[in-house]
Amino acid sequence: MSANCTSHMPPDTSPPNNGYVGRFAPSPTGELHEGSLLTAVASYLDARRHQGQWLVRMEDLDPPREQAGAADSILRCLQAHELHWDGAVMYQSQRQAAYQEALEQLGQQGLTYPCNCTRQRLKSLPQAPAYDGHCRRHPPQRPPYAIRVQIPESPANPICFVDGFQGPQREDLAKTVGDFVILRKDGLFAYQLAVVVDDIAQGITHILRGSDLLDSSGRQRYLFERLGHQPPHMAHLPVIVNGKGQKLSKQTFAEPLKPERAADNLLLALQRLGLNPPQKRDNNCEELLQWGIEHWDPSRVPGGMVIPQ
Ligand code: GLU
Ligand code: ZN
Repeated sequence: MSANCTSHMPPDTSPPNNGYVGRFAPSPTGELHEGSLLTAVASYLDARRHQGQWLVRMEDLDPPREQAGAADSILRCLQAHELHWDGAVMYQSQRQAAYQEALEQLGQQGLTYPCNCTRQRLKSLPQAPAYDGHCRRHPPQRPPYAIRVQIPESPANPICFVDGFQGPQREDLAKTVGDFVILRKDGLFAYQLAVVVDDIAQGITHILRGSDLLDSSGRQRYLFERLGHQPPHMAHLPVIVNGKGQKLSKQTFAEPLKPERAADNLLLALQRLGLNPPQKRDNNCEELLQWGIEHWDPSRVPGGMVIPQ
């Protein structure tokens, strides 16, 4: 996405209020690591600073990518850091009916169509990764097929918003992605649809997550609107990268967090968020988080977080 927007929503400067509902939405593809803890802490502090709610949603939507036991281990790790959520954890694996309903709602607006294009065809498109709408004109007759949602091509109708950390954003979905998949050929609902359906169901007002998801925001805002809801405020935290510019994740050997080092982990997370917590010998998680809530200031979050190697 790039800047230069003519019309956009103003940034969120609203005073603290109890209407705030934030969330942390991990995928159980592995254990919590430093990068995901940072997102959890930032979204927690922002929610609590606004005297808002902080919900946890387990995004167990894609069983082949999941690791046995990871969902429970993530929840235990959050608790070990005294990051306590409100209400019950929502599990995407139990939300099929809601996703199906949203799919039908989009279908009733004439916005969906089946697509059986092969991966090879999609890769070879001149405008790839944007889809060319081939199956909209030549719908496949039999399954298996994916379902795509249609993006109006004209008049150009870019998605514009001001991101809490990344500033003004503008995306012309017809150019960047084209009609995109909301139900995969393998029968699994796409992340883009599930996140929006759940954010609506949970009444999320503020999304604070890693900037690796900035690219998804345009598609998600489009779906919010098509499903009859105003998109929440969005703020995409810079992701932690190591000295080689790689995102800290399982693939780049981000170590799972040690729950017994919870206070040290929190201290580091607060520092990475631009805060300067008191260094005490006997730091404990509750005190650190309380201190964090009192001192949380999104404008101090550094734009890039390079960890020397
Ligand atoms: N489950 C996604 C992830 O772990 C995050 C989804 C979101 O915050 O919207 O990358
Ligand atoms: Zn197709």
